[in-house]
Amino acid sequence: MTNPFETAKSQLMQAAKIAKLDEDKIEQLLATDRCVEVSIPVKMDNGKQKIFTGFRSQHNNARGPYKGGIRYHQDVNLDEVRALSFWMSFKNAVVNVPFGGGKGGIIVNPKELSAGELERLSRGFVQKIYPLIGPEVDVPAPDVNTNGQIMEWMVDEYKNLTGHPKALATFTGKPLGKGGSEGRAEATGFGGVYVFEEAVKNSLGGVVKGNTMALQGFGNVSSFFAQAAQKLGFKVVALSDSKGGIVNLEGLDLDAVAEHKKQTGSLKDFAGAKNITNSELLELPVDVLVPGALENVLTADNADKVKAKLIVEMANGPTTPEADAIFAKKNIPVIPDILANSGGVCVSYYEWYQNMNNEVWSKEDVLEKLSKQIKQAFVDVYELQKKYNTTFRTGAYILAAERIIAKM
Ligand code: GLU
Repeated sequence: MTNPFETAKSQLMQAAKIAKLDEDKIEQLLATDRCVEVSIPVKMDNGKQKIFTGFRSQHNNARGPYKGGIRYHQDVNLDEVRALSFWMSFKNAVVNVPFGGGKGGIIVNPKELSAGELERLSRGFVQKIYPLIGPEVDVPAPDVNTNGQIMEWMVDEYKNLTGHPKALATFTGKPLGKGGSEGRAEATGFGGVYVFEEAVKNSLGGVVKGNTMALQGFGNVSSFFAQAAQKLGFKVVALSDSKGGIVNLEGLDLDAVAEHKKQTGSLKDFAGAKNITNSELLELPVDVLVPGALENVLTADNADKVKAKLIVEMANGPTTPEADAIFAKKNIPVIPDILANSGGVCVSYYEWYQNMNNEVWSKEDVLEKLSKQIKQAFVDVYELQKKYNTTFRTGAYILAAERIIAKM
């Protein structure tokens, strides 16, 4: 299994080599400022105590407070969290928000916990990490399997423990009416489509409106991406969740799929579509492929079988360096995660800013700002991609590394 931190490092090394970046600074960026592991005792509903393990990794804060989500997943581990915090530093620099990179995680399958257990776990995590975070120090947010409700518990716990006057700004991705921002829920998915729009405008991969698209995932990110892509004129033909996927090459009715998932708890057996596995989805005869769930899904084993003309990474780290090399050889452009999914943290910045300045922005304002900011990021990356005749990923790394190094 590819180690995601090794992947992250090799991506940066490639950019450093091509753009001849300062070696000492790169050596610093390959390291992590701080990474902590904590144990979280939780009283379970059956009266027994269970100890959970959590992590917070703070990669680099040259450009501002550490910033990045907290994920709840049974496979969370230190190398993954470190890689994810590393990617956050670069993502925040690409989309040009004044934050560094951080990430957290807890080893848990949250679907096996009751609401009460989940709340005690979330508050317990904050009890362990609160001295290390704060609105001007480290600002967590949701990630895989975490949401606004969890942020609400965490921010409340942080406020109780510290009495910080700006406690609200210590977490982003909060619910509306609880300090959250309009547009934050849609931000990652919509942001990805704003970038995708630019890619289409520039004929990347020869993709045009009316083309087909397969998305891995149907969570907070992929569902909003699918919705906006369909509105733009693309045909969404395949979707998946952790249990498997569905395909209908004539197109899927997204509202009906969402309703089916709500009723049955999964996408499986959706009427009018064929069940497929998550790996089959990646190899479908579609024009656009959007890996929007977890890392390491496009590898040396399947990259050659991918038929898409353009890949948009909405998950963090879905492509291994070996797969990247295969796509580059086959001239399949890959819009990298640190650009494509930066809409979420971009609106997190708007949320943090509103909290810090007691402002409330409209959804229209937020989405308009996001569109401008993320499209500019695309233009900046595209320029470097052309200048160095390299991949979009390496272009994005060069842009980000130069911006971070300038502040180190
Ligand atoms: N978890 C999201 C990401 O990976 C958002 C992070 C944030 O808003 O801080 O980009």
